[in-house]
Amino acid sequence: MALLSNEERESQVLLSRELGPIFPLYGVIELAPGRLVCECGKLDCRNAGKHPRWRNFQKRASVDPNRIRDWFDEFPHANYGVLTGIAAIAIDVDVRPDSNGLLTLDYLQIDHGRRISYTVDVLTGRGNGSRHLYFSPDATVRTRAKVLPGLDVRAAGGYCVAAGSRHFYGGYYHFAEEQAPGEQNMAALPDFLLSALAETAAKSVLAASETLSSALPAALDIPVPPIAAPLPDRVVLGAMLHDPVARFYWDGGRRNPTPSEDDFALAAKLAFYCRHNLPQMYRLFMRSGLWRPKFVECRPVGTYALWTLRRAIDHTPQTWIRKERRIPGAKRGRRPSPESKAILELHRSQPALPNVAIALQLGLTVKRVRNAISYHKRARAENAALLHNLAITREPVEYYPTQKKIDSILVETDSIQDERKVG
Ligand SMILES: [Zn+2]
Repeated sequence: MALLSNEERESQVLLSRELGPIFPLYGVIELAPGRLVCECGKLDCRNAGKHPRWRNFQKRASVDPNRIRDWFDEFPHANYGVLTGIAAIAIDVDVRPDSNGLLTLDYLQIDHGRRISYTVDVLTGRGNGSRHLYFSPDATVRTRAKVLPGLDVRAAGGYCVAAGSRHFYGGYYHFAEEQAPGEQNMAALPDFLLSALAETAAKSVLAASETLSSALPAALDIPVPPIAAPLPDRVVLGAMLHDPVARFYWDGGRRNPTPSEDDFALAAKLAFYCRHNLPQMYRLFMRSGLWRPKFVECRPVGTYALWTLRRAIDHTPQTWIRKERRIPGAKRGRRPSPESKAILELHRSQPALPNVAIALQLGLTVKRVRNAISYHKRARAENAALLHNLAITREPVEYYPTQKKIDSILVETDSIQDERKVG
């Protein structure tokens, strides 16, 4: 790969100012021919050439060309970042064997019969088609990683490595031909892309251990919220066979006007019992009595079977019934006395009313009023703190059916699987 001179790097970085304020990142330096390391000094830096030199980079970022030139003098090997969400947002398109963002964009465009218009485009130094597409800012778009397979969104609070930076693999980030600022206007994010991003707003990423088997098309590695640890197939089947509706469809029963509605009904049941674990849903779906050649027919996003399962997941977000649970450590309901109730009611309806006035109105002592109010205020604050901690620690949530319940109705299903032709 050709080396870029510092002048060439500088001119690309200066062009990037139109995309947002610029700040220096640690660059990559060549320790020995072909051996690039991050300038931060960590030989095994996991974010080589991509992390800011300063903690307060957001404050120090600048569009002043003189300042940027000074940085080039001060840090001759630096890479540069562009703050997103100010002058532009970026879609970070990552091309990897297991999640190809270009393919995802292709599918989206095919699905909607529309093209993403030309816009400012930075090819990453990886040299494999990975790129950053810049669009005019949109306040509704948030910075999120892996929002769709191979796609990250960089908006407010985020940044992108700027053109002119060097990639750990040796290449340079650079503007695609005729798609640099000044040559190419920034487009607005197309509606269909915007809605595709919004649809996945509540989704998180599939845990690494749960990614689809390589037998499935790579593009179908669509993020699925990991709801809980997957259960063994036989446990799931055991539970399904105790569900009259699931069993009916599993055995190939039909009751809807069209076969595809029956497929969807089974898929929805699988979504429930497999806890949205798509690989497991797929395995079982392909073994069900509803199976027919249509299951392997191609759809714009993979096979008919996968498309159906995917829809089932999307349509059953509320399938899991949360078990009633007491907040650990929370005080069991100590009912306030009638006097306390009266005090609190008055206090809530008129927060400005002094304790003395409340005491006079209710014929109680001021001390009694003060105690009631302070006690219940404290209890509320404690509960709020508990709830807050709960949200942060993300304790495993129990779902119905619980493991215990499934165990209790567990049946040996190995014989059932043997009877079926495994698809
Ligand atoms: Zn580093």
